[in-house]
Amino acid sequence: MRDYYEILGVSREANQEEIKKAYRKLALQYHPDRNPDDKAAEEKFREAAEAYEVLCNEEKRDIYNRFGHEGLKNIGYQGFSGYSDIFSSFSDIFEGFFGFGAGGRHAERDIRGADIQVVLQMTLKEAARGRKTEIEIPRGEPCTRCDGTGAEPGTRAASCPACGGSGQVIQGSSFFRISSTCPHCRGTGEYLATPCKNCGGGRRVRVMRKISVKVPPGVDTGSRLRIAGEGEKGDRGGPPGDLYVHIELEKHPLFEREGSDIICRIPISMIQAALGAETTVPTLWGEEELHIPPGTQYGDLFRLPAKGMPHLRGGGRGDQIVQVYVVIPRKLSGEQKRLLREFQKLSPLKERDFPDLSPESAESNLRHH
Ligand SMILES: [Zn+2]
Ligand SMILES: [Zn+2]
Repeated sequence: MRDYYEILGVSREANQEEIKKAYRKLALQYHPDRNPDDKAAEEKFREAAEAYEVLCNEEKRDIYNRFGHEGLKNIGYQGFSGYSDIFSSFSDIFEGFFGFGAGGRHAERDIRGADIQVVLQMTLKEAARGRKTEIEIPRGEPCTRCDGTGAEPGTRAASCPACGGSGQVIQGSSFFRISSTCPHCRGTGEYLATPCKNCGGGRRVRVMRKISVKVPPGVDTGSRLRIAGEGEKGDRGGPPGDLYVHIELEKHPLFEREGSDIICRIPISMIQAALGAETTVPTLWGEEELHIPPGTQYGDLFRLPAKGMPHLRGGGRGDQIVQVYVVIPRKLSGEQKRLLREFQKLSPLKERDFPDLSPESAESNLRHH
């Protein structure tokens, strides 16, 4: 077997650029497109590819320098089986020369960090007032030990031998080729002989980060806050993603929300309904006086203006709508029964007096407080 440096015509001290240049020259000279059915050219083409593959890889080159062809055989290196093997390995070398594989080197493209989605649970009262809080999220960030390179400090990542550093492999004949992400380096184009001890060569680590979140008044379940730049950090200096906070409101025992309005149901006695009364109702903003007029019916609605939820946009608040239900006594003393019968004699119920309890009717009874 011939010496790899001899094949490429470079000195043993040649740097990566010189080796690449020498290989390009040979690959162009013995390329099968230019030497159809030439067995000698095919052999030279294969030989050059093998020499290049070994010498462009720091680890393989080191083994070859010290132990020669035998050393490479011992680590399982087998060379190339054919053209497609060679083309897929050195697609970046052939790019430009033979007019395929447009676009920049995949490995060096800035990669924007992913967005992070979190759910923030709040009570209705918190949502009404807005809330400043801190949330803790695990976030992917470039490893500080290796500065995001994945290589142990003091070492460097070499070009991936499978794709020659392009991150892409090209398969197919010399006429029809398909480019896909290199399965060996997963598109990074790099080979890590000594992975960083902190990230294991993954370049990124999960870090718990506290992020301040300012929730504006008026949010509802399904509201989404975007905190720009607080997502996963980007790769290779790429911009960070965004953090999305999805609001989820806990159910309130008394208040139901309808847009910016709050609906609340309160009980009144049948005496209060008949005679009228002053009562207090809870709101998001404290107790409020409510005047119950005489003759109030079951299901009647009263509106407390601006006691509802703040409008998320535009300021102001919705209303609180109070619906009353009349409590009919379940147990009556003898005296109470006697008085009610007395009352009944004065105002016998007729069928036409039964109130219309349909929701439309309740809505039309909506009174302003
Ligand atoms: Zn690291
Ligand atoms: Zn690769």
